[in-house]
Amino acid sequence: MNMHANSSSSASRRWRFNEAVAACQDIIGDRPVLVGIDCEALKINAGIVRKRLGNRGLCAILKGDAYGHGVKLVSSLLVDKCTHMAAVDNYELEALREVAPDMPLLRLRVGADTEINHAARAGWRVREMAASRDKLERISDIYAHLGTQAEIHLSLDAAGLGRNGFSFQNLDDIENLAQDITSMPNVSIASIACHLPDAGNANPFHRNDPSRVALERFRWAARALLRHLREEGRQLPEISAFSSASSYAFGEHDPLGELGCQMFDRIGSSLLGLTEGNRHGEQGTTQVMHVSTHVCDVVHRRAGESIGYEHAYTVDNANGESVALLGAGWLTLSRYHQGIGKTDLPAWCLGPDGARHNFLGRQSMNISTIKAKSAAGSTLKIGDMCYLTTDFHGADRGPTIARVAEWMGGVQHEFVTSSFGATPSSSRFLF
Ligand SMILES: *Cc1c(COP(=O)(O)O)cnc(C)c1O
Repeated sequence: MNMHANSSSSASRRWRFNEAVAACQDIIGDRPVLVGIDCEALKINAGIVRKRLGNRGLCAILKGDAYGHGVKLVSSLLVDKCTHMAAVDNYELEALREVAPDMPLLRLRVGADTEINHAARAGWRVREMAASRDKLERISDIYAHLGTQAEIHLSLDAAGLGRNGFSFQNLDDIENLAQDITSMPNVSIASIACHLPDAGNANPFHRNDPSRVALERFRWAARALLRHLREEGRQLPEISAFSSASSYAFGEHDPLGELGCQMFDRIGSSLLGLTEGNRHGEQGTTQVMHVSTHVCDVVHRRAGESIGYEHAYTVDNANGESVALLGAGWLTLSRYHQGIGKTDLPAWCLGPDGARHNFLGRQSMNISTIKAKSAAGSTLKIGDMCYLTTDFHGADRGPTIARVAEWMGGVQHEFVTSSFGATPSSSRFLF
């Protein structure tokens, strides 16, 4: 790896981020947590994924307000690299339909009747999911009422996830499902899919690997379903088996290619640069979200005084401790930073020069206490900007999203990006 090239590109991204913060200070200045979405990183990540997928389509997964990155900010930058886009809530689907008037859109969970109805009336042409015959009938009714065709993204629960997909044991189950669907005249299967929940730890070359076994079950079921649809003279659906981790683990030797359907992969985390450190992470991608905040004040406490709830941290330095106060607390930083029962947090943020400043004591809902002095000797002052999560300054040093997720007690990376991206204290912008 070329360390020099990496660190200089990280420096240029940092510079662009700081420029953007300075340029839009008037607009965003009253929200203390600044969430920068790196357009260049996003486009590069999408290019890397796009290239690896070869002939398969790319469905950008933008649920959870694009994992806290902002569905509007992100979708317009991705649209020309995608064949499909998917989200969950109607406000996301509405935004996607605006950005991409003709692209297939999927709702990635079974919708509530109210939201399906609203989406149908609005004419967004969303591929809906169902996990029971009853739900298929309701979707059929909603669309029949409007005199239009309902498209279904048919998920098969091949891996035992127990939620969005149809369960099946044998050929009869698949045949019955296919018959049910073809008996509803205004319903068509636009795509069939499975979700492999264990793919993050998969060993794709091991015969008994659970994801590989599930993929075999899915292939078997898909083949039976396709046979039925062919016999009925129906149009063949598309097929989608992979999310970020499974796409990387299994996609290269795609076992579904032989089925003769157009395929697409459903990619969320990798586009946002959140998987590079995983076992099956998208190599070469970088973090898209960077979060900073300003120092609100700096206070001094003498030796023996304590900081934070429950006196969780006691100053032991004979000269006392300077404490910088940040306008972001555990509502933003979340539970580990709250430091329940902890006096010695490993968590840190970065000062403007890239030096580490440790969190001190148990944190509050919307204010944090950090060491004003870094180990390198620099001292924070009022107004200085601190990075709460970033891979600028080198991923080995920064509070990367993966590292913050560890500090929070091993939460999912989506939890980190959503809490930073969407608190009332946060302001998101592109740079
Ligand atoms: C969220 C989701 C994905 C995307 O998962 P990533 O690991 O973030 O790529 C794919 N498929 C389904 C059904 C999902 O719900």
